[in-house]
Amino acid sequence: MNKNDICEIIIEDMGKDGEGIGHVDGMTVFVKDTVVGDRATVKVMKVKKNLAYARLMEIREPSPYRVTPICEKAVQCGGCTLQHISYEKQLELLQNHVKNCLTRIGGLKDAEALMEPVLGMEEPFHFRNKMQFPVGTDRDGTPQLGFYAGRTHSLIPLSDCPVGHPVNRVILQAVKEYIREAHVPVYDEEKHEGLLRHVLTRVGFGTGQVMVCLVVNGDRLPEEDLLVEKLRTAVDGTPVERTFEDGVISDRTPGNGTGKERPQDGRPLRLASVCMNFNTEKTNRILGFHSRVIFGTAVIEDTIGDIRFEIAPESFFQVNPVQTGKLYGKALEYAGLTGEETVWDMYCGIGTISLFLARKAKKVYGVEIVPQAIGNAKRNAELNGFQNTEFFVGKAEEIVPKLYAEDPDRYRADVVVVDPPRKGCDSELLSTIASMSPKRLVYVSCDPATLARDIAILSKEGFVVEKVATVDMFPHSMHVETVVLLNNKFAKVKDFVQIGIDAEDYYRIKDSEKDTDE
Ligand code: SAH
Repeated sequence: MNKNDICEIIIEDMGKDGEGIGHVDGMTVFVKDTVVGDRATVKVMKVKKNLAYARLMEIREPSPYRVTPICEKAVQCGGCTLQHISYEKQLELLQNHVKNCLTRIGGLKDAEALMEPVLGMEEPFHFRNKMQFPVGTDRDGTPQLGFYAGRTHSLIPLSDCPVGHPVNRVILQAVKEYIREAHVPVYDEEKHEGLLRHVLTRVGFGTGQVMVCLVVNGDRLPEEDLLVEKLRTAVDGTPVERTFEDGVISDRTPGNGTGKERPQDGRPLRLASVCMNFNTEKTNRILGFHSRVIFGTAVIEDTIGDIRFEIAPESFFQVNPVQTGKLYGKALEYAGLTGEETVWDMYCGIGTISLFLARKAKKVYGVEIVPQAIGNAKRNAELNGFQNTEFFVGKAEEIVPKLYAEDPDRYRADVVVVDPPRKGCDSELLSTIASMSPKRLVYVSCDPATLARDIAILSKEGFVVEKVATVDMFPHSMHVETVVLLNNKFAKVKDFVQIGIDAEDYYRIKDSEKDTDE
């Protein structure tokens, strides 16, 4: 096979980034924008030893799983990679991806048997409570807000996004007008010049509170009052929902909810916070470390179930409120708390999972690296009247070993919950968790590959996977959240080990007890 060859291919499988996979002349070929079941003509773009990348030229016979994307920019935009695939099929792909990681990387023999049915959405649109729009210029030099094209930093102008809240449309419009009227210089990534870099929006689906945060390469913006006025006019009283029925988009005003699972039904929107975040570094990181309030409050509030949370712009908060409820519900179920346990919530963010756990536990410790998030976590515990939580700022892999070494009784763990970023848990932390010997470990993960890697490490320490739940937190993409319950088969052994009986003996003793008991 050579570059520029034109060939026909049948797509047999999907890759982890949503690309179709087929075979030609014994080579594995990856083709973006195809769907399993497609027969297509493709052009080979790049050839490696056993694999090749090709570009879709023509669909000869469409897959039965193909659908027309709702967003007309879906193909160019790097955000949704699966919008052209039926939602049911998307869920199947996610479940398979998790299963494959657990089997191939995690070494689980019976992954499929341990997996619960995937938790998808009833209406997989308008679910995101947070959007980050890069600001730049189009080919004519006109300022634009939009999204990056897949794997690049070329800007695709957007006036709306069907996975975000409908209020983004009026926010984008207002910011564009402000840029024009106040002559705001927009940021040029290559030259590291200009002022306005990104616009971040957050909507409290449970409260109707809206935050708009402008990320600037500098320390001020011109005519801040004009910005606030435009945003207030745009946001306050805007319709809260939009529906897609038979391809027709319509806005709905508050109060006439359909009874579907959207938490914001019936709550009018209100601009609660406009802030400016300072990021003067030449970096791909969107947010800088500090923000200033221009209007309203420094945080917005949202609810998950009946717990209320304050969220700062720098803090992590799950982006899909409907699915977050399901995810945390699973984490809580797997934690199996009775009210007597001491629980560690590692990588706790603003204390969301911690507070759900705190309701059913004796004590919950949380640890998180972002100071603003820990500020939010402490305040959130107070706001909701919890007195059995304690939060620490720092790297989990440094704080937990230190505290546990200082006072192993106080900082013990009956149950540990971890919810790390994509790179997974630090190995230092995993060995500390093993030495803390909790009964159960609940691993919440946003990357099944690193989850599976960590499971393989933990299985050497006696942790056994009992159950796996897959939650579609990001419909139309291959990103997926997974919750895994691991039981620790050495947990009860700890005291015996200390007096010199090793785990195998313990199990022999236990087994013989069992024989006589039964
Ligand atoms: N459990 C929370 C947050 C999960 S996201 C929730 O559901 O909302 C992962 C979190 O880990 C982020 O808040 C991130 O800031 C934090 N983090 C990243 N690296 C960390 C580290 N080394 N130690 C502690 N926290 C870390």
